[in-house]
Amino acid sequence: MGQRIGVRHVLSFDVEEHFQVSAFWSDARRQQWDRLESRVEQNTLRLAELLAHADTKATFFILGWVAERHPGLIRTLVKQGHEIASHGYGHELVSRQTEHEFREDVRRSKRVLEDLSGSMVCGYRAPSFSITDRTPWALPILVQEGYLYDSSIHTRFQPSENGGMQGCVREVATTAGPIFELALPTANLWGLQLPAPGGGYFRLLPYSASRMIVRQFEKTGAQFVMYLHPWEIDPDQPRMEGPVLSKLRHYLNLKRTERRLESLLRDFAFAPVVDIVQPIRDMVQSRVQPGVGVCAVPR
Ligand SMILES: [Zn+2]
Repeated sequence: MGQRIGVRHVLSFDVEEHFQVSAFWSDARRQQWDRLESRVEQNTLRLAELLAHADTKATFFILGWVAERHPGLIRTLVKQGHEIASHGYGHELVSRQTEHEFREDVRRSKRVLEDLSGSMVCGYRAPSFSITDRTPWALPILVQEGYLYDSSIHTRFQPSENGGMQGCVREVATTAGPIFELALPTANLWGLQLPAPGGGYFRLLPYSASRMIVRQFEKTGAQFVMYLHPWEIDPDQPRMEGPVLSKLRHYLNLKRTERRLESLLRDFAFAPVVDIVQPIRDMVQSRVQPGVGVCAVPR
């Protein structure tokens, strides 16, 4: 863990099957989900192994659909001390759902995950970061359904604009009450503002560029929010038919991700949201019911 310094960054994974990604979404494929080869459990367990090796815990935003089919996976993650959060139930873009469908989706997912983990689930991340100006009802619904923080929005901020350690989080007032928004950072690269370096951008950029970006954050004491998917460390996943650009993006550098993640874990210190983002941690601890734990709190 060598050169790690004071700042601990957020490490998160969106747990879904390789065939559930939005880039390859079609209603016809949705009907086939139960017949396609499942690879999410083995890939997520591999991630957990890498994390254990680096003595690191993370936040796992998990689909309710996946949790129902792999209950042992949820229990394993809980046992290892990771935070269980919600990626919704069926991975339909928020913008494609009605308010009613969205409420049902986030409610169902929370219930499934809480039943399996025996802990309070307080975080939510939308499929493909699809909470936007066109879905103003989404955050109030999350508040009403008992979520304490959301992490679905890329925020255009530079480290220098951050207010220091807590720069990645802000409290948002909604018609249903406040919720914390944990923003995914964007970085300025070659004059382009990119949502970097999580997911596809982590696979696209050379590792040295990703490291440079996280260092920029770290220099100002700002926390960085990193995200990846289990399928991103699986170069052997079956190839799907879809738009050429989607295929290019989805299958790019899958072979390199695992090694890059190992480097990242070596170069920086990471932890789950509820452990290290102080306003969220405070709020979560004030809400914990006696006898009900929250994954990863307190350390
Ligand atoms: Zn997703």
